[in-house]
Amino acid sequence: LVSRKWRVRPTVLDLGDGVRIGEGSLTLAAGPCSIESEKQMELIMDHLVANDVRIMRGGVFKPRSSPYAFRGLGMEGLKDFHRMARARGIKIVTEVMQVSQVEEMHDYVDVFQVGARNTQNFNLLDALGGVDKPVMIKRGISGTIEELLSSAEYVFSGGNEKLILCERGIRTFETASRNTLDLNAVPILKEKTHLPVIVDPSHGIGIREYVPTMALAGLMAGADGIIYEAHEKPEEAASDGAQTLNFEESARLIRNLRKVYKLR
Ligand code: PEP
Ligand code: MN
Repeated sequence: LVSRKWRVRPTVLDLGDGVRIGEGSLTLAAGPCSIESEKQMELIMDHLVANDVRIMRGGVFKPRSSPYAFRGLGMEGLKDFHRMARARGIKIVTEVMQVSQVEEMHDYVDVFQVGARNTQNFNLLDALGGVDKPVMIKRGISGTIEELLSSAEYVFSGGNEKLILCERGIRTFETASRNTLDLNAVPILKEKTHLPVIVDPSHGIGIREYVPTMALAGLMAGADGIIYEAHEKPEEAASDGAQTLNFEESARLIRNLRKVYKLR
């Protein structure tokens, strides 16, 4: 069902208020790895509004490698996130980690994010197949392109056709970067499926200085958009600070992404 053989026309998702994801427009989503406070959200939303970015990312349920690391503000944080975003015309993409969260999060998100660690959580995918909200599925940490498409097939076949695929880097033998952003996946996915494809260069390379370069490369490879981490003070971020852009870097990247998008 997610194949071009089944549907030739590219899928375009309408989030409302003029925010579209898919062919014909550039999708930009930025924000912190973790939602930390109302003050932080205010600063980040001001930055997004000033740069005409309509989608904010940020986790309230965080899958952390260590159980002692910051694991997010949970539902209370999401409710604040939602209230503040609504007041500013911003759409929310945030990670859902388990089936029991789908219903409680439903009214407070615009796009459910399935994280790389949950790409093959088939119960979660089944549950998301039953909701009327877009789902962005990240590629598994050691997942193949075919496995990503199979995960999408779970949601689609469950009845939810509002899907976005996200290349966020895979684990390889290379240790010079956090992950290896597989830009090969972009043209391959664009050819194989009718779904929008978004690139996450932050997790893809994991090193702040190189994030803009890989973001631009992702767009040139044919992605429909870029999702990246931005924070008012990356060095103090509760998670993923080393791959997070400050506002100046973020604003420059946004300008360059818009220029490059027009050149394609
Ligand atoms: C994130 O988006 O902050 C995140 C945890 O991503 P991933 O699932 O790709 O590691
Ligand atoms: Mn992160």
